[in-house]
Amino acid sequence: MAVVNKPVIYVVDDDEDERRMVALDLNNRYAERYRILQAASGLDALETMRQLRDESQPVALILSRQNLPDMNGAELLAQANECHPDARRALLTPFSETESAIKAIEKFQLDDYLITPCHPPEQKLYPAVNDLLADWEARTHPPIAGVRIVGSRFSPEAHQIRDFLARNCVPFEWLDIEQDEEARQLLSTDDQKASRLPIVILPDGTQLSQPTEVELAEKIGLKVHPDDNFYDLVIIGGGPAGLASSVYGASEGLHTIMVERRAPGGQAVLSSMIENYLGFPAGLTGADLARRAVAQAKKFEVEIVSPQVVTNLRVDGSSRIVTLSDGSELRCHVVLLATGVEWRRLDVPGLDKLIGAGVYYGGTLAEAFFCRDEDIYIVGGANSAGQAAVSFSRYARTVTMLVRENALSVSMSRYLVDQIESLKNINVRLRTTVVEGHGDQRLEAITVFDAVRGEKETLPTNSLFIFIGALPHTEWVAKVVDTDEHGFILTGPDLARHQSNGHAPRNWPLSRDPFWLESSQPGVFVAGDVRHGSVKRVAAGVGEGATAVQFVHQYLASSER
Ligand SMILES: Cc1cc2nc3c(=O)[nH]c(=O)nc-3n(C[C@H](O)[C@H](O)[C@H](O)COP(=O)(O)OP(=O)(O)OC[C@H]3O[C@@H](n4cnc5c(N)ncnc54)[C@H](O)[C@@H]3O)c2cc1C
Repeated sequence: MAVVNKPVIYVVDDDEDERRMVALDLNNRYAERYRILQAASGLDALETMRQLRDESQPVALILSRQNLPDMNGAELLAQANECHPDARRALLTPFSETESAIKAIEKFQLDDYLITPCHPPEQKLYPAVNDLLADWEARTHPPIAGVRIVGSRFSPEAHQIRDFLARNCVPFEWLDIEQDEEARQLLSTDDQKASRLPIVILPDGTQLSQPTEVELAEKIGLKVHPDDNFYDLVIIGGGPAGLASSVYGASEGLHTIMVERRAPGGQAVLSSMIENYLGFPAGLTGADLARRAVAQAKKFEVEIVSPQVVTNLRVDGSSRIVTLSDGSELRCHVVLLATGVEWRRLDVPGLDKLIGAGVYYGGTLAEAFFCRDEDIYIVGGANSAGQAAVSFSRYARTVTMLVRENALSVSMSRYLVDQIESLKNINVRLRTTVVEGHGDQRLEAITVFDAVRGEKETLPTNSLFIFIGALPHTEWVAKVVDTDEHGFILTGPDLARHQSNGHAPRNWPLSRDPFWLESSQPGVFVAGDVRHGSVKRVAAGVGEGATAVQFVHQYLASSER
């Protein structure tokens, strides 16, 4: 068996002084965990990278000078992607060429650029490299990770565990019982174990058979139960809106807890590349955004409790009381609802029984790894489906988008339409819908209806990813706060608009009107996608989460509660 060495950081630069300086600085900081390799030309670098691929040696990061004598650095990085699709890739560029570097990032989907000279490294090299390496570690499943899952690829339970770990940014190694000799050896001592799959093996050797998310969370060190029973601010939902309000709340002195049902990051974690969030010109993955936001929240001592579902909210005088799925209760002055939205189900025969067994709503990168060299299908024509298609095209042989509309541009941003059109292995079938799923234990084929040709067609596939519109699921809280006809929660002036006389809601007890982000229940605020009229974007959710905290302060300062 080939010995896997430390992951590689590769520096490609024909300017010897610059290359040596960058390599030396990288060695000083990263040599303990990474091997630093160098090349002076693009062709040499490509040859070494092919060798590394053939020897199954991981490459974590490639830094290439933009103008190499034998090829353009961006093209080198694009070609390197074929050998090492997980490697993070960045250009080394002088300030005068920043603009062309930004264009190259867009065109070749690179991760970043670093302005040369990268000195002092503490300011100009290490922060960017730290980010890129953290991103690589979070996305890949390095063998050093520690947590291993043994199971069958098409088992819904195994999918749920992979998804849970991936959403929580916990690296793991996947051992497929159907394909992996090591997986079979691990189980051979006890034939019975096969019926108890999936099994999670923790770094200390503990084996968990078919663990629940809570059991797993406790074992991997997540905080599942709150420390206290009274807080200034309880935030329900850990997506961008909840995370932003937790950072602003705690940093401004509020005793803050955030309760999250699955994993911090919310829907954003499903985004393979957020390209419109301010300050990240190269884009960032939703998982990366969540990882950074969680670190920031923890820095300000936000208590993050997850996985834990909030099942009820009630009011007792000036206290708001929140019930958790384990039956415990939290009391507080103020509640912030940031529960977002969830995918709508595709009502098509044959699909529901195969959820997690080839049919996936959304899809983290954890699933993308399984699609290597396969023909996969994506349902949906909005940005989320477009991002998934681009990201999965790095792994799958072909990606076919099934889109109900006449044109991609109907509901997708131009930058994504351009990317999709430039990728040869993405096919777009317009005016095409899925009408049936086939398979017993796992998805084996789908039948689609092509409205252009007026024909049905059955297509073999093992993977269907569904990205269609979303709903708020606020039934559990609808007896406490007013919602619109779709379940989105009304706040501020929208509450008055929904009253026939244009005044504050009927049972509103205070002399003042509700604040902008306040619900029909004083002291219960709302931010993000779950709010009626919200803009369904990360930046909007973050903005509302931060703004809500201002109103929380005004509410707490007021004598009338
Ligand atoms: C695939 C995809 C790609 C996207 N790409 C982009 C993009 O590129 N740019 C962009 O601006 N936007 C993008 N969006 C939209 C963006 O992610 C959302 O607008 C944003 O996440 C909304 O944030 P939120 O905090 O309001 O809600 P959410 O992100 O939905 O988070 C809500 C959280 O609340 C939790 N929750 C719900 N109910 C409970 C409960 N009862 N108890 C405890 N927790 C609960 C959920 O588990 C979830 O984690 C994308 C969305 C998707 C799905």
